[in-house]
Amino acid sequence: MLSRLKARFKGKVIEPGDPAYEQARVVWNAIADRRPAVIAQCTSPDDVVTAIHFARELGLVVAVRGGGHSVAGFSTCDGGLVIDMSPMREVKVDPSRRRATAQGGAHLSQLDSAAQAHGLVCPVGVVGHTGVAGLTLGGGMGRLQRKLGLTVDNLESVDLITAEGRRLHVTEKENPDLFWGLRGAGANFGIATSFGFRLHPFNGTIFQGVALFPVDRCLEVAERVREFDAAHPDVHIALAFTRAEELGGRVVFAVGSTHAGTVEEAQRDLRAIRELGPLSDTFGPKSYLEIQLVADESMGWGKRFYTKSGFLPELSDDVIEACADLSETIPPDAELSLWAHSGAVGRVPDDAMAYTGRDAAYSISAELQWTDAADDDARIAWGRAAMAALKPHLGTGRYVNDVVEVGTDGAQIYGQVKYERLVALKRKYDPDNFFRLNQNIKP
Ligand SMILES: Cc1cc2nc3c(=O)[nH]c(=O)nc-3n(C[C@H](O)[C@H](O)[C@H](O)COP(=O)(O)OP(=O)(O)OC[C@H]3O[C@@H](n4cnc5c(N)ncnc54)[C@H](O)[C@@H]3O)c2cc1C
Repeated sequence: MLSRLKARFKGKVIEPGDPAYEQARVVWNAIADRRPAVIAQCTSPDDVVTAIHFARELGLVVAVRGGGHSVAGFSTCDGGLVIDMSPMREVKVDPSRRRATAQGGAHLSQLDSAAQAHGLVCPVGVVGHTGVAGLTLGGGMGRLQRKLGLTVDNLESVDLITAEGRRLHVTEKENPDLFWGLRGAGANFGIATSFGFRLHPFNGTIFQGVALFPVDRCLEVAERVREFDAAHPDVHIALAFTRAEELGGRVVFAVGSTHAGTVEEAQRDLRAIRELGPLSDTFGPKSYLEIQLVADESMGWGKRFYTKSGFLPELSDDVIEACADLSETIPPDAELSLWAHSGAVGRVPDDAMAYTGRDAAYSISAELQWTDAADDDARIAWGRAAMAALKPHLGTGRYVNDVVEVGTDGAQIYGQVKYERLVALKRKYDPDNFFRLNQNIKP
């Protein structure tokens, strides 16, 4: 059977027993330890089409892999075909048009460094080895989101191969219905072989850091954060309740920020937080490219990870108090993480695309990392219980890239109206649900 695929396919075809198999089947989250029947490492859009036809002929379940960082493990499977985009990692920048083209297997660090080579930037996520594809198709939150929007707000085109192996160029003007759906529910409709992004001039220096406060000061500090947030809607704010290793595992309230203005502006603006007298403070001017890689090791491959998230209509004292209560039992290497929305994120109308949650003041997530499989149940249970306790404070929508529980109701992720529009799109572009290893929109 495989000989038919190999005859037509230019990339590597890897099956169990092949010396490359054990490495090729690994994805970022060690919990997703699965054994596909075949891994097809694509080198071109033609390879993708060939792999799709092969899977259809054999009736194989298909997992599509970009950067392999799906926390739910959607980019691998047991017994099926992995269409692996990882050899297709090229990023090209056209500085005159301020445009980048990234292939479907590119990593964020490649897009970052290619754009910065021309003094440009596309806002992306905060860990360099994350895949451009999965991040963009779900939304793409990051340090520059309040200034330049989500990654998906800077997406201009997608070259897509559909479930029938058809090639589509998808933009605001060409196949606009699909462009709407790809921006937030994109893993459902096809395989993106390349993305076109709008870039922005950016000198590459940011003022970034984190100030740690004792948890018992969280209400006072949160009050100041709210004032800062309202006064500086374009400045990134990342709050966390976590254990600080450098303080012997003490639970702290961390206030992080990335200011992309001049150093003088940042010094002036961030004084409001820093003058509160934190336990420690790492703020200073830094290289954007270096900060984009700073978590690459701590968030490296091979660990176990769980996350669950939601959107907060406001950063109320009740929420802060609830987080402080939960942090009393927070496991090591875990955090309740809150990122400010609004700014450029809130300036895009919520119905502009499938991504949902624009109206939120903050996103909030429980994030847990550990290494021993024996801890799986306890860590996952803590994350679920924390988000259950916070549920009364949550508003509409969920960030699809943080939804790990398979079979989550799509209306919870997108709201009922958008979900119905997505179902109609799915019926049009993938009526057989060929692409179903994702937060699935059932046709
Ligand atoms: C360490 C880490 C850091 C993260 N940081 C951030 C962050 O800062 N901001 C943020 O918004 N999110 C972040 N995330 C979440 C991240 O956006 C999602 O996990 C995302 O799905 C990863 O994309 P990927 O291509 O690496 O994943 P994959 O596992 O390869 O794919 C994820 C999903 O997209 C589909 N897919 C992959 N490639 C393609 C393609 N070419 N065409 C069509 N579908 C495809 C897959 O089938 C799967 O359903 C982070 C995740 C991790 C693990």
